[in-house]
Amino acid sequence: MPSHQPTAGMMAVDPAYVSEQPSAASKPAPKEPVRNTKYDPKKPHITETPMTKKNWYKHVNWLNVVLILGIPLTGLIAAWWTPLYWQTAVFAVAYYFATGLGITAGYHRLWAHTSYSATTPLKIFLAAVGGGAVEGSIRWWARDHRAHHRYTDTDKDPYSVRKGLLYSHFGWMLMKQNPKRIGRTDISDLNDDFVVVWQHKHYLKVVLFMGLIFPSIVCGLLWQDWLGGFIYGGILRIFFVQQATFCVNSLAHWLGDQPFDDRNSPRDHVITALVTLGEGYHNFHHEFPSDYRNAIEWHQYDPTKWSIWAWKQMGLAYDLKQFRSNEIEKGRLQQLQKKLDQKRSKLDWGVPLEQLPVMEWDEYVDQAKNGRGLIAVAGVVHDVTDFIADHPGGKAMIKSGLGKDATAMFNGGVYLHSNAAHNLLSTMRVGIIRGGMEVEIWKRAHAEGKDTVMSKDAHGNKIVRAGSQPTKVFDPPASANAA
Ligand SMILES: [Zn+2]
Ligand SMILES: [Zn+2]
Repeated sequence: MPSHQPTAGMMAVDPAYVSEQPSAASKPAPKEPVRNTKYDPKKPHITETPMTKKNWYKHVNWLNVVLILGIPLTGLIAAWWTPLYWQTAVFAVAYYFATGLGITAGYHRLWAHTSYSATTPLKIFLAAVGGGAVEGSIRWWARDHRAHHRYTDTDKDPYSVRKGLLYSHFGWMLMKQNPKRIGRTDISDLNDDFVVVWQHKHYLKVVLFMGLIFPSIVCGLLWQDWLGGFIYGGILRIFFVQQATFCVNSLAHWLGDQPFDDRNSPRDHVITALVTLGEGYHNFHHEFPSDYRNAIEWHQYDPTKWSIWAWKQMGLAYDLKQFRSNEIEKGRLQQLQKKLDQKRSKLDWGVPLEQLPVMEWDEYVDQAKNGRGLIAVAGVVHDVTDFIADHPGGKAMIKSGLGKDATAMFNGGVYLHSNAAHNLLSTMRVGIIRGGMEVEIWKRAHAEGKDTVMSKDAHGNKIVRAGSQPTKVFDPPASANAA
């Protein structure tokens, strides 16, 4: 083993595990395993010294480089000379799913998030096959994952995607990490779980047996393919399971939609779901982490959810946690509302009424007489000079309203204008008539809460719904000008 500083990112053998061996016999079994004896919190950690040409190799976590890149590469080369039996291929794929589920249904949804409870036989199964995925002990994995949820995208997030896609995928394990930097999380529940504690203590044996020996034995005893079992069912299968589950930290924070919250990086995408046994609905997952599901629609791919559900039917899993759809839909709606607000704020809704200058009626009439194309509708004055030629109802019709109160004409007296017409008109408004009758109507309507012109979004922008433009007057008062 290369000499190393303890790092939170050590995947297969975690520092806490290393330190436990010599002291296990002399001391009573500690609940919280002690740190590596070589670790001195007072000495500056290697990650606190800048990387140079001379010391770069000290920044690299060589053990993980061997485990994540070296061994798979050797396996790929060995596969060139190793014939692949179909039975071994079928077994390797099945074992890929089993060990992947050990991570997704076991490490992740059961232990990191306690989104359901499992009976002891199921726990032992998940701890065993999860160990066969070679991604660290449950205890180490769940602690980092809880920090990832608590401190998503910050410096305390052990695999923050803000440091780059490759970093979040496996760069965080290939390079040493400063244990002081990772956010603190409570794992007292895991320290009380004897399956978790046992697996952590015997992690190396679990990894060797479930990762490599077991697949060799199965393929060797059943169809005499010992080497194929080792290469395909062991080494290469480990490589694929690792790369697939690493995608939860990289791809799921990079590719797809954010239907529930877009303030952080988690995203939903079917491709990520296909790669990660259903962990691809990651935006949902970060919003509702204690829900045993990732995919909430029946047609979405989430074999991890299906497995947990099946275990429940078999009496192996219970207390499956699920958020009420009412709560889920509230989150979805609020995110939609946020998107709507952003779109609305980019559109021209006209000068806000309260910012318009106030005009006297006579002033309005005078200006219109002097050739300015002004038209008053519902007490709001609009300058339609540039629009007269384009008026769909003809120049004569619009001109007949200039300098008059055109409220009734506009609202059905002559023609019941469309919603689009009211919207367009609002972009031409230039003033408000003091004490104008229609303004009074408009004010009264607001006082009675009859329309929503004044309702505002989270950014204080007005929300103007169809039919609630200030120029829209239902049942306009008869006006002499309208005839
Ligand atoms: Zn995440
Ligand atoms: Zn999670």
